[in-house]
Amino acid sequence: MGQTLTEKILDDHLVEGELETGEEIGIEIDQVLTQDTTGTMVWLQFEAMGLDEVQTEIAAQYCDHQTYQFDFKNTDDHRFLRSAAGKYGAYFSRPGNGICHNVHRENFAAPGKTLLGSDSHTPTPGGLGELAIGAGGIDVTVAMGGAPYYIEMPEVVNVRLEGELPEWATAKDVILELLRRLTVKGGVGKILEYTGPGVESLTAPERMTITNMGTELGATSSIFPTDEQTEDYLERLNRGDEYERLQPDDDAEYDDEIVVDLSDLEPLIAQPSMPDKVVPVREVAGQSVEQVIVGSCTNGGYEDVLPAAKMLEGREVNSTTEMIVAPGSKQASEMLAREGWVAEMMAAGVNFSEATCGACIGIGHVPSSDSVSLRTFNRNFEGRSGIEDDNVFLCSPEVAAAAAIKGEIIDPRDLADEEDGLEAPGIELPDEYDGSKTDLITPEEAPDDELVKGPNIGDVPLKDQLDADIAGEALLKMEDNITTDHIIPATQDILMYRSNIDKLSEFTLSRVDDTFAERAREADGGVLVAGENYGQGSSREHAAMCPMYLGIEAVLAQSFARIHRANLFNFGIVPLTIDEDTYADIDQGDEVEIVDDVYDAVTSGQEEFTVRVNGEEYTATLDASERERAILAAGGKLSWTKEQAQSDEG
Ligand code: SF4
Repeated sequence: MGQTLTEKILDDHLVEGELETGEEIGIEIDQVLTQDTTGTMVWLQFEAMGLDEVQTEIAAQYCDHQTYQFDFKNTDDHRFLRSAAGKYGAYFSRPGNGICHNVHRENFAAPGKTLLGSDSHTPTPGGLGELAIGAGGIDVTVAMGGAPYYIEMPEVVNVRLEGELPEWATAKDVILELLRRLTVKGGVGKILEYTGPGVESLTAPERMTITNMGTELGATSSIFPTDEQTEDYLERLNRGDEYERLQPDDDAEYDDEIVVDLSDLEPLIAQPSMPDKVVPVREVAGQSVEQVIVGSCTNGGYEDVLPAAKMLEGREVNSTTEMIVAPGSKQASEMLAREGWVAEMMAAGVNFSEATCGACIGIGHVPSSDSVSLRTFNRNFEGRSGIEDDNVFLCSPEVAAAAAIKGEIIDPRDLADEEDGLEAPGIELPDEYDGSKTDLITPEEAPDDELVKGPNIGDVPLKDQLDADIAGEALLKMEDNITTDHIIPATQDILMYRSNIDKLSEFTLSRVDDTFAERAREADGGVLVAGENYGQGSSREHAAMCPMYLGIEAVLAQSFARIHRANLFNFGIVPLTIDEDTYADIDQGDEVEIVDDVYDAVTSGQEEFTVRVNGEEYTATLDASERERAILAAGGKLSWTKEQAQSDEG
């Protein structure tokens, strides 16, 4: 039987296990990336493990999430990150140089490589045939130290593309269509592999818009085969020698198949406040729009901003609307500036911003209360924009620019009927990506060789070995689809404490209940109860680290998002799955007791646990590999890795 492209790359990197769906496999990692919100802990853990030097082919530290400087904290963190990159041998991308995924794809992403990143949108370079996976920071730390990355072999789903996109439909509409059909849980436990005759009509940047947002489906990764489009893109990046043709075998067998006929697509939009609330733009047309933003790691490339700029040429942003353009990389900004497009957009009324995540996590350009904001981003979780009563829609740059011109949501095809000379801009790649690279510092050029820690850099929290007894109050009962933004918000006022867990933990779950942290401290621990898909969203390990720091010992949920589930193991919190009836029977404030000796049960491979609530007994399940159980028993991955190192030495 032939192999899928996913299997071929995994086979090339396999160090442990077999490629059987659901089996745990260990793979060698070629490249790692980390960004500033997750990076400080990555390097503090690297130091705590006593590691000397990066062992992967490429390690890159980006500063993109918190680039604005309000006081010393962010700058302290950036200085620490630069010093860690210098000391241990990673590339360092300075604040303002761009979003990790954009800068990584421009400089390092390559066909056939494996990439592990402490950011949930790490799968972006799947559009270039790289197998890229998002993970918690400590998993990245360990991989950077040269150890394999362990994962349950996902199902491989064939997403067969047919036809070609019609005018005004874009790559964003392809992934929005998949979200409409499959929902934010539809990709869990799966790698989406794109095939079919429609693939060749999509340029590499368009493919990367699709793979970037596979994360919103909950997918482990998304990948395209490589072909002339991939080679063409790499050549324009002056990296043509890194091209390698990679295709699945003709007789490859997939676990499932989804067919998307590109020629059936039309401009789509995700309504507030979930990326899968997708409808045709025409269904919500006419709503007035106060803010439009083009940017982010999904649609912030040169090729994404250019269509919006072309639509604005000779036109004006409506006086009722503010339009912001924040390219994904400084290289894109620089090229658009050299070609005169920045001036053209500014003349049309655009507010041109620096290359940063910024507004995507509520840092800057917060919308006004109860107003409509159209963004080309990948997420519109409630409150992520920086205010609770936000109404954020997700769409393509073309739909965003049309709304900016009209001042209301409008299908760009309808705007073209109204506006003389407005034509579909299509996609255009530059002859050469020729921005300067001064803000990407190579390990050889690194100015530091010692760690520099300012007062904002705290210690890595450690947990003791897993307890035999777990009992305590159900401190919080939550609904379905709780995001890591709910657990630890990524807004500026909170995330500036990312390197100081004692302070950061005060904000744990404050978006759900602002008394939570105080109650958890007073109770000296307890358990959390949640519905389906608990912990979806970012890879932020703080969302497990802070509850652990507050003494949370177990989370009882109907299901867990993949990266967050791994983070719970990594920080010694027991993730137990419960059914719908058990969920319904537990109330916030109930005393919850795990009847079994938890340490013994975890280490002996027991799957079913008895949970006593108000005198009633229920069954909860721990579905975990031997390695995950060992990590949990040790009190988390840092303790476990140290134990491993000691036993290897002994
Ligand atoms: Fe940055 Fe937003 Fe992309 Fe995350 S999703 S990397 S915050 S632009």
